[in-house]
Amino acid sequence: MKTRAAVAVAPETGLEIRELTLDEPRPDELRVKIIASGVCHTDAIVRDQWYPVPQPVVLGHEGAGIVEQVGSAVSGFEVGDKVVVGPSFCGQCEQCLSGHPMYCVDFYDRNFGGKRGDDSTAFSTDDGEAVGSHFFGQSSFAEYTNLPAHGAVKVPHDAPLELLGPLGCGIMTGAGAVLNVLRPKPGSSVVIFGTGAVGMAGMLAAKAAGATTIVMVDIVPERLEFAKELGATHTVNSKETDPVEAVQQITDGGAEFALDTTGVPPVFSQMTKSLAVQGHGALVGAAKLGTEAPFDIGTLLVSGITVSMVVEGDAVPKEFIPRMIALYQEGKFPFDKLTKTYRFDEINTAFADSAAGTTLKPIITF
Ligand code: NAD
Ligand code: ZN
Repeated sequence: MKTRAAVAVAPETGLEIRELTLDEPRPDELRVKIIASGVCHTDAIVRDQWYPVPQPVVLGHEGAGIVEQVGSAVSGFEVGDKVVVGPSFCGQCEQCLSGHPMYCVDFYDRNFGGKRGDDSTAFSTDDGEAVGSHFFGQSSFAEYTNLPAHGAVKVPHDAPLELLGPLGCGIMTGAGAVLNVLRPKPGSSVVIFGTGAVGMAGMLAAKAAGATTIVMVDIVPERLEFAKELGATHTVNSKETDPVEAVQQITDGGAEFALDTTGVPPVFSQMTKSLAVQGHGALVGAAKLGTEAPFDIGTLLVSGITVSMVVEGDAVPKEFIPRMIALYQEGKFPFDKLTKTYRFDEINTAFADSAAGTTLKPIITF
């Protein structure tokens, strides 16, 4: 069939909306009519080739839509089901079988390979040129796409699909790092570096978990202001104030938990120094391959801190996405306040607004 899709063609270059041919879904796949797709910082850095996903490729990995066709080997899905799509994993390796599919041994190839395991791509041009697909197992910047059924998570029929796509990556990353990895107890102190969609989702999750001191650090005053509106107890502009000193003072000796959503080396160092004795920090911010961050092993050894590197909130999407929807419906996880909707033909504006910091979580509607 024909479908319109946004194609990444070169670094630092706008996506091009083109009409492509979509092949037939494989036996283990679903064809999904995408209703909406979030834009994540990771789409921008892959467009810019921080991760070398072959181009041309259809990006997009926060898709939500309706099942149009069900592959012959798929069970548990019917035409008309509403789904939110998470990353692809094999379901058979040690990591998958021990409940950590975001560390699947095949995660990179499945999500950043730009094609299926059999080397085919779902999209092609009229001239027969292959166009990359299966980005994060979905390539959701398209009106229709084919994706492995195991990545799709069914959501209730009354669920607001136009809002839920970001639960498949950005929101899951921030909320999962807090709820699945850091696990703050009620009454805890948490510091979060970066007030983008990932950091804000982490903040909302920390609040839902009962953290009572939540410090948000950023260099954009408007974002810090907004963080305060949404529940931060303290904000620090790290362009003006040393965030390590500020956090040590606010928490009287260091935060019990910390999250770095920036992927900026000096910020990672600040995170480690902001922790209390035996504190636990997590890095989720992405950096170019080969990036190193200074880490004072001399001083930090005796602090007993733990630092985790966390992919996709270490979530099991089938378990975690419905949990986030339930918290949202209870009014305890208002991630909708982070979103702004754009039409498909405004997709490059959505990327630009995200980069400029004026929109936290753009959602493209189809
Ligand atoms: P974003 O760009 O909206 O937010 C990043 C925030 O960090 C911005 O508010 C920015 O002002 C702030 N920042 C930048 N430099 C800073 C500094 N020196 N000090 C303090 N704050 C600074 O991005 P996002 O959508 O929230 O995503 C955050 C990161 O998470 C990205 O790197 C993204 O690629 C990554 N990510 C990782 C995973 C994962 O599985 N680990 C999943 C999704 C996204
Ligand atoms: Zn993402």
